[in-house]
Amino acid sequence: MKLASICVHGAKDKNNRTGALAVPIYQSATFAHPGVGRSTGYDYARVQNPTREALEGQIAALEGGAEGLAFCSGMAAIDALMELFEPGDHLLCNDDLYGGTVRLLAAQARRSGLAVDYLDGRDPQAFQKALRPKTKAVFIETPSNPMMKITDIRAIRAAVGPEVMLIVDNTFLTPCCQRPLELGADLVVHSGTKYLGGHNDTLAGLIVVSDHELAERLRFVTKTVGSGLSPFDSFLIIRGLKTLQIRMEKSQRSAQAAAEFLQGHPKVVKVRYPGLPSLDREISLSQASGFGSMLAFEVDSEETAKAVLERVEMILYAESLGGAETLITYPLLQTHSDVPEAIRESLGINDRLLRLSLGLEDLDDILADLAQALG
Ligand SMILES: *Cc1c(COP(=O)(O)O)cnc(C)c1O
Repeated sequence: MKLASICVHGAKDKNNRTGALAVPIYQSATFAHPGVGRSTGYDYARVQNPTREALEGQIAALEGGAEGLAFCSGMAAIDALMELFEPGDHLLCNDDLYGGTVRLLAAQARRSGLAVDYLDGRDPQAFQKALRPKTKAVFIETPSNPMMKITDIRAIRAAVGPEVMLIVDNTFLTPCCQRPLELGADLVVHSGTKYLGGHNDTLAGLIVVSDHELAERLRFVTKTVGSGLSPFDSFLIIRGLKTLQIRMEKSQRSAQAAAEFLQGHPKVVKVRYPGLPSLDREISLSQASGFGSMLAFEVDSEETAKAVLERVEMILYAESLGGAETLITYPLLQTHSDVPEAIRESLGINDRLLRLSLGLEDLDDILADLAQALG
């Protein structure tokens, strides 16, 4: 099946005898055994639940992986990855990761001596040079957050060699636009809270792995900690996924138009969107089938940035992305407030930078709101 069809039909309830089209919410914490030493395949919901299992199968099919795992948030999924590291292991990341991931990795460095280096994702040679005997993995986001820098996934794989685990946070593009496992990644992670859920109503995290052994190690976390996604939230993500492809198409078209509109605006100094002519655009075209619907733009002053946030009417000033509603954020005070100032400044995350997640409203209304907010 092609991707749009997997979005619609990919969640299978293995236990379905009624013909129900929607995967039921199996709101059961425990499951009865048919006899001693026998199991229906379900014992206790911390370990497995049929609704969560249907979602896990669907995301694995969408990313083209061996197995999927669903967690109660994107951060719970990323935290589960820490299970793969030993004290003293070394991790390489691109330098403008999601702020929550930076915070988690810093805590992990303090607690268990994980060494983390941040490098420019556009320089694969730098990753090669930074390799150490203890380098266990590379963790990248592309496009990056919030600067929308593109990392060439194949080039990173080639630079670090086959032994280093390559992890890609695919939240921004989703499997509809980018399938990292096909480009050489071993593991894909998502904040399902964003595009996969798509309605700004559910927190979720997803992992897809290329082999079963890796999945087993990660399942140990959900089983031990209970960070798996609840049946109801699994249902909501399955429901959201039905329209993923069509939502991505519409919001991307709006993002391209908004990027071009902003680029022509006198109060906008710079627009960062991979769909605008640049080297990033070329790399995007080589590994992704779309540019996504996130963009960042720098305005002429802090006053303008704050005025835009105060004046938007239909567009909402809120964290998050990937939902039906167009959202604007101020990375400096929101997603990246925990990133040290010197690093933030060097990345270009300053008091004039705004980030926009294009939603599903009529494009004319979105552009009109941006125009009036910029004044
Ligand atoms: C939001 C986000 C996360 C964290 O996910 P939550 O669902 O909020 O826990 C991780 N990575 C990226 C790129 C994100 O946008």
